[in-house]
Amino acid sequence: MAAEPAVVRVDRDRCIGSGMCALSAPEALALDLDGLAEPLAGYAAGGAELTEGLTEAVDFCPVEALALHSARGGHRIAPAD
Ligand code: SF4
Repeated sequence: MAAEPAVVRVDRDRCIGSGMCALSAPEALALDLDGLAEPLAGYAAGGAELTEGLTEAVDFCPVEALALHSARGGHRIAPAD
């Protein structure tokens, strides 16, 4: 079963620009000119495919700056409350 597409939200006050998320999920995240993570597919673009790499990026961010939300309903997918 295909997972619903996800929109990544980055807490830029937390992000330290380690770049780990962009390595794990290069289709969904990149570092911007400030060296901080930036989502590549927002709601207008329909979100990004919810890949294993994207889930890992959220799980392994060292400062817990990432969250996944449904591209359709907006509810949070990860991390769990
Ligand atoms: S893994 Fe976390 S701290 Fe590192 S660039 Fe991505 S969001 Fe920022």
